[in-house]
Amino acid sequence: MTRDDTSRIDVLIVGSGPTGLTLAVDLARRGVSFRIVERDAVGRGNGDQPHLSGSRGKGLQPRTLEVFDDLGVIDEIRRTGAHYPVIRVYAGRVPVWKASMHKWQEPTDAVPYPMIMMQPQWRTEQILRDRLAELGGKVETGVELAEFTQDEDAVTAVLRDAAGAVATVRARYLVGADGGRSTIRKALGIGFVGETREEERMIIGDVRVEGLARDAWQVWINPWRRQLKVAVCPLPHTDTFQLTAPLAPGVEPDLSLAAFQRLFAADTGLRDARVTALTWASVYRVNIRMVDRYRVGRVFLAGDAAHVHSPAGGQGLNTGVQDAYNLGWKLGAVLGGAPESLLDTYEQERMPVAASILGLSTRLLDQANKGARKALKRDEETGQLLLNYRGGPLAVGERGGERAPDGRARLVDGTPVRLFDLFRGPHFTLLATRPVTAPEGVRVHVVRPGSLRGGYGGHAFHLVRPDGYLGVTTDSEGDLADYLARVAPGR
Ligand SMILES: Cc1cc2nc3c(=O)[nH]c(=O)nc-3n(C[C@H](O)[C@H](O)[C@H](O)COP(=O)(O)OP(=O)(O)OC[C@H]3O[C@@H](n4cnc5c(N)ncnc54)[C@H](O)[C@@H]3O)c2cc1C
Repeated sequence: MTRDDTSRIDVLIVGSGPTGLTLAVDLARRGVSFRIVERDAVGRGNGDQPHLSGSRGKGLQPRTLEVFDDLGVIDEIRRTGAHYPVIRVYAGRVPVWKASMHKWQEPTDAVPYPMIMMQPQWRTEQILRDRLAELGGKVETGVELAEFTQDEDAVTAVLRDAAGAVATVRARYLVGADGGRSTIRKALGIGFVGETREEERMIIGDVRVEGLARDAWQVWINPWRRQLKVAVCPLPHTDTFQLTAPLAPGVEPDLSLAAFQRLFAADTGLRDARVTALTWASVYRVNIRMVDRYRVGRVFLAGDAAHVHSPAGGQGLNTGVQDAYNLGWKLGAVLGGAPESLLDTYEQERMPVAASILGLSTRLLDQANKGARKALKRDEETGQLLLNYRGGPLAVGERGGERAPDGRARLVDGTPVRLFDLFRGPHFTLLATRPVTAPEGVRVHVVRPGSLRGGYGGHAFHLVRPDGYLGVTTDSEGDLADYLARVAPGR
């Protein structure tokens, strides 16, 4: 049955993983008209059985926490998440090594969230879905994108629901946040270049284990071969653990509860602990691939649809969140009247980031495969705080393209302010040492000269993009106006 009720919207998002949800929350707070559709009927969408989408990407990097601060979900993420526990390694029943993946770091003025947080992915998604609901949005579950075409003005997409009913939608832009097997990427004929390591597979499952302590990420190894046998990580504020174990080449995976019970008993040798339930299970095959284009006309790719990583270093989910965060404000600005060319900068900025993160996670994976302890090293690089767009198309001036750090300053009237409080929201923020007029969508704060420190200082104007990077740093009102004409809506 075909309904002839072509709806017209600005953006159609396909996929409600962390990437699609981040974009949806960002567009919702910008007042952009959009729909977000998700093929899965359960788990992903309705929250009845959140475990069905699994704990998968469980590390939220410091930079992602800053994004979540801006999107209004940081309190819930912190309330329900936890820092990583210690890792305790056993050879049989003997503990042989204890380590922390993350050195304790105190928050500073510049970096309020220095530590990675653990959250099962199903909960991160749930928190984003709840935020979307607060903003008046909703994921349409059990609805898949069947096909699409595009012309000069819009994309025409055919959506099919679980009952087989189809409807068409006209959207100014289509965003494929539809995961590693992206049908949108394939339909666009975009190459997914890289390698699949068929022999490097892992089974992963969320399990309940009776009799196992929850104070550490417990890992059993074969000390002679320096190989992982099984790792069991307690997931914060749940009664489950994420269990991972390598899968030998040629072995058919068995994802039943009985198989997890046998594996746990055999690889840990524990007699007083046993797996009692399996709430989600999957096989993870190492795929290291990325696209050679992020955009074809009115269609964009984001997240796993554009790049897939090894799990080493916990970069996958985080990179997808930041793709969405980079794209959201640009879509909002162009729909609000900024030049269309702003959208070209999405690919220009994000493709080099994906390439460098792919390199980082592959390096960590290769080190882990050799049993090297440095594979566990986590720092500013894995925390994604060093990521920047310096030298890119939107970086102007001495500090253009750098992350805009948090910090403290004083307004001209002496009021003390925290910078992230000024940045929070969908607007640009102009930190100025003298009054200046700016277009709608730019909040101007006149600060006392000298009160801006850290990554700032020395210039009359620091323009902070809505995604928390410095756009232009300059003393010239002309430079500032030229820059805003390229990026800000309403001109
Ligand atoms: C087993 C496993 C373990 C992982 N472990 C880690 C880890 O330890 N650390 C880490 O950082 N990352 C990890 N990842 C990767 C992480 O889960 C992904 O990077 C993340 O989910 C990507 O988010 P996304 O939103 O881009 O895509 P996805 O989460 O894949 O979401 C895409 C969504 O699109 C939907 N969809 C697809 N096609 C259509 C269509 N035609 N119409 C409608 N909807 C559609 C899908 O149903 C899906 O819900 C793991 C992944 C897996 C599978």
